[in-house]
Amino acid sequence: MPDGGEAGGRGLLRLLTCGSVDDGKSTLIGRLLYDSEAIPADQLAALREESRRFGNAGDELDLSLLLDGLEDERQQKITIDVAYRFFASKRRSFIVADAPGHEQYTRNMATGASTAELAILLVDARKGLVAQTRRHSFICSLLGIRHIVLAVNKIDLVGFDRAVFDKIAADYAAFAAALSFASVQAIPLSARYGDNVSAPSPRLAWYDGPTLLGYLETVETGAAQRAPFRFPVQWVNRPNAEFRGFAGTVASGAIAPGDPVLVMGSGRTSRVREIVTYDGALARAEAGDAVTLTLADEIDIARGDLLVAPDAKAEFADQFAATIIWFSDDKLIPGRSYWLKLGTRTVTATVTALKHRIDIDTGAHVAARALEFNEIGFCNLSTGARLAFDPYEVNRETGAFILIDRYTNETAGAGMIAFALYRAGNIQWQALTVSPEDRAGRKGQKAAIVWFTGLSGSGKSTIANRLEQKLLDRGCHTMLLDGDNVRHGLNRDLGFTDTDRVENIRRLGEVARLMSDAGLIVICAFISPFRADRAMAREIAPPHPFIEVFVDTPLEECIRRDPKGLYARAQAGEIPHFTGLDSAYEPPENPELTLSTMDSDPDRLAERIVAELRRQEIIP
Ligand code: ADP
Repeated sequence: MPDGGEAGGRGLLRLLTCGSVDDGKSTLIGRLLYDSEAIPADQLAALREESRRFGNAGDELDLSLLLDGLEDERQQKITIDVAYRFFASKRRSFIVADAPGHEQYTRNMATGASTAELAILLVDARKGLVAQTRRHSFICSLLGIRHIVLAVNKIDLVGFDRAVFDKIAADYAAFAAALSFASVQAIPLSARYGDNVSAPSPRLAWYDGPTLLGYLETVETGAAQRAPFRFPVQWVNRPNAEFRGFAGTVASGAIAPGDPVLVMGSGRTSRVREIVTYDGALARAEAGDAVTLTLADEIDIARGDLLVAPDAKAEFADQFAATIIWFSDDKLIPGRSYWLKLGTRTVTATVTALKHRIDIDTGAHVAARALEFNEIGFCNLSTGARLAFDPYEVNRETGAFILIDRYTNETAGAGMIAFALYRAGNIQWQALTVSPEDRAGRKGQKAAIVWFTGLSGSGKSTIANRLEQKLLDRGCHTMLLDGDNVRHGLNRDLGFTDTDRVENIRRLGEVARLMSDAGLIVICAFISPFRADRAMAREIAPPHPFIEVFVDTPLEECIRRDPKGLYARAQAGEIPHFTGLDSAYEPPENPELTLSTMDSDPDRLAERIVAELRRQEIIP
């Protein structure tokens, strides 16, 4: 992780505070800002006024009110998940990431912690360690925070009792031994009265350790340690034929003119010619600096590429293992396709295996088929293109990614890469002599995938069978894949949970693709209820055309027809997860064809598909 600069010095320290409002978090942050004189005079006057209004006796300030404005902002605009506060003491400057404790805490912590070097965990001296303390500690450890301050707050409310503090400190030390922290410092304090926050307190005479601020000013987090040079290219700046610069922010390490660089992926190397900024050329750039690099040689570099130090290359793979923290209400399902954004690169990605879920209360590994909101899991991922990265443990900048829902564009999860799966590099694509076009050409057609989707009983099988008959009559070569039939063989190990449905469609998409490689027009009749999964099948199809046919029949009509008696059984409770009843059907947004079975018969509807195949010149 980048340090603010000042290699080896005690420059900027990035902190994360964890705990709930009840533990006194707002008051503690307010106290730190107040004691370090980081509060402007006008704000201080307003605070005095407000504290009086809230009935505080005498001159006592309610420092928690300082952060209240922030809470209001948060409530209005939920996008403000993490608030950053800057303050400086005489010896060091600090950025505090304050993540609110409720509901979305994993998400907020993940966001706030991505740059934090140290976490202050607040506990209430009266309560000692609570479940949330353990959860927060666990997430901090997972996110790579190596330094913990256990702030035992409200020590005034237990009469500044040494025994209470000692017990909490010992309990925490015992618990934290299993987590990979480099340092744990317990500090007794009263945020409200200022005891031991920035000045030692006579009421804590038995305590001979540092004050909170004293500790923060001197703690060595090792963040300045040299990480190798990493530069994700944000964009290629080419205002004219003479100038070609690569703009971005140095993610880690440092660079100077003359230094060699290597482009991950192509393996091309060159040397830095100039480090350009708005304020002129620099002699050196380091982690956190936004610069434009020009190189000595003309080599191919595009947005999303990673420039690295040639003697410390990054990993380059399209399969890796990672820990994922899931924030979305829609669960993470293996096999489903997401956008993965790592640095400046965005690619498609699927979780190919969910190894286990991690119970954040106990750290135990639990078997799981999906990840729900706020859950953490360890997964194998496969990406649509190879990516340059480092394991998160080695480099938090180039080892962290986010997963984005492809339909809502919401950030659905955050991930930390553990290691590349070397298998990735070992499997090569074998070139074949005869091409799919050769095979289809010999049959006098083009291959294609006609993908029916619709509720059970909507008419997919009926129309698909008519279509296949019509195509055969025209001398075409076809194959019809029926959802129910495939479940007797290839997919007999799959049930009807959301997870199994995704895998069902993934396999069927692959089979359809193989059969169209064989030169066939493949007709697929599967309910395929989820948009994301049909999109996945569509993505597997190229170079073959994919024709999505929505068989549009109202649910009431399907229930009335009930050709296989399935709705009756589902309504009697015999079939759980039945599409249209207790499992969702997502109609397509842009199908190539929509067939309404209410105002046309199967024959005419099949003819419309034949017409579409002719229009696309798939059949003569
Ligand atoms: P699915 O394959 O979608 O589960 P099926 O094709 O097995 O549905 O069943 C659809 C039922 O609806 C059949 O009994 C069929 O005869 C009837 N049906 C009535 N009108 C139509 C129509 N216009 N198109 C297709 N099927 C229709």
